[in-house]
Amino acid sequence: MTLILLGPPVAGKGTQAQRLIETRHMVQLSTGDMLRAAVKAGTPIGREAKAIMERGELVPDSIVSGLIDEALAATPASTGVIFDGYPRTAAQAEALDSLLEKHGRKLSRVIELDVDEEALIDRIEGRFSCASCGAGYHDRHKKPRVDGVCDMCGGTTFKRRPDDNAATVRTRLQEYRAKTAPILPIYEKRHLVARVDGMAPMEDVETAIAALLPA
Ligand code: AMP
Repeated sequence: MTLILLGPPVAGKGTQAQRLIETRHMVQLSTGDMLRAAVKAGTPIGREAKAIMERGELVPDSIVSGLIDEALAATPASTGVIFDGYPRTAAQAEALDSLLEKHGRKLSRVIELDVDEEALIDRIEGRFSCASCGAGYHDRHKKPRVDGVCDMCGGTTFKRRPDDNAATVRTRLQEYRAKTAPILPIYEKRHLVARVDGMAPMEDVETAIAALLPA
């Protein structure tokens, strides 16, 4: 199975990808995660991407499509793949078509998480994660059970993404509206798109996505 999870920043794509990894043993190919790793490692790609990401703008298409090419080459054809945060532009959607062909895959579904933008800004501004295991939390909506201690691993250090602030988020939403939302019709024409209410509780979103996938 080869899926695209499409939706604005913090629509819950990463969370839902995580659930699919656990329930279906798929792999998540998140260009955002790959770029953050490159920034952290100080690679040439990371150095080029850092300032762009901090502004909430999009990194050049050739860079992210190159990362996806490498990731697909490293993933066995029998393993299901979830694209999270890619493609984000028409040029990336086109590149993905060629990459899927090159790596012998066929797109099964495009799942769009439908969300309310103002609520998203609230979600983004409060989110943080465990520095050890990456478990996600929120100041108001999902606090750790014990204050300052990760529910999953007991870690006591947490981190916030530098691009999770109101100004950057507004740019990220603008980028989504201007460049990413317009690629939906490409997939609608192929009858691949299903819309899921991303504002519903996490478990309901998970159930709705599961209902769209083969058993
Ligand atoms: P994300 O974690 O998906 O929200 O991505 C964080 C940031 O990484 C974005 O705001 C962009 O600056 C950059 N980025 C991630 N994926 C892409 C992509 N497919 N195309 C361009 N830029 C991307």
